[in-house]
Amino acid sequence: MKNELSSLTIEERVQAIRESISQACQQAGRDPGQVRLMAVTKTVEPARVNQAIAAGVTLLGENKAQELCAKFEDYHKEGVEIHFIGHLQTNKVRQIIDKVTMIQSLDSEGLAQEIQRQCEKHDKMMDCLVEINIGSEFTKSGLAPENLEPFLEKMSRFDRIRVRGIMAIPPICDSDAENERNFEKMRKLFVDIGAKNIDNIHMDILSMGMSGDYLLAIKHGSNLVRLGTILFGHRDYTKQV
Ligand SMILES: *Cc1c(COP(=O)(O)O)cnc(C)c1O
Repeated sequence: MKNELSSLTIEERVQAIRESISQACQQAGRDPGQVRLMAVTKTVEPARVNQAIAAGVTLLGENKAQELCAKFEDYHKEGVEIHFIGHLQTNKVRQIIDKVTMIQSLDSEGLAQEIQRQCEKHDKMMDCLVEINIGSEFTKSGLAPENLEPFLEKMSRFDRIRVRGIMAIPPICDSDAENERNFEKMRKLFVDIGAKNIDNIHMDILSMGMSGDYLLAIKHGSNLVRLGTILFGHRDYTKQV
């Protein structure tokens, strides 16, 4: 798929990806309308991001506050939402609070406090996903699955934060089977926590699946896939955007 796509324009890639999402949904007995496609824009210059928007992409994912601020004005933002998906330091919340409609990387009470504070200042609410470290990797941010419920109990008291679901960046796995186990763990966590009906907590978004594994993620219930490489090609981190 990746090689097939490399000769295509961004518009053609968006179409091809949409078709493969539809197919994966059909195979899983799901409605394709349930799965949202996010274009992950790290290192991608605004002109190319705007091509994806012109092709119908309505959701962008940003990893870095500084990069978001640098590119924000150049995006064709009409009808487009931006979610923050990277690790977020508390001192950066202020820079992004008025630019994003969701923070997918909520992973600490301290961060929640700062989001609450900035939302009060701007008189707004913020949708958030809690990031889960599903592979229990030492190097990754995110909550251990067993800590999610107590964390959500705390979150339910933040009146400017609306938790909408969970997000994961699973470990790179050697086998599809291992990958599928991680996605399945996420799905179970999502369903089980949703069933607890914790005050002020809504479990409607399960954000998982990237370029290499989004079709598997859809098979396991993802309703928001975050795609960078497959859409824009390999990233060049040496270039300043
Ligand atoms: C970079 C990134 C992606 C996209 O990864 P690709 O493999 O390029 O599709 C998705 N989610 C997060 C949080 C990322 O940082």
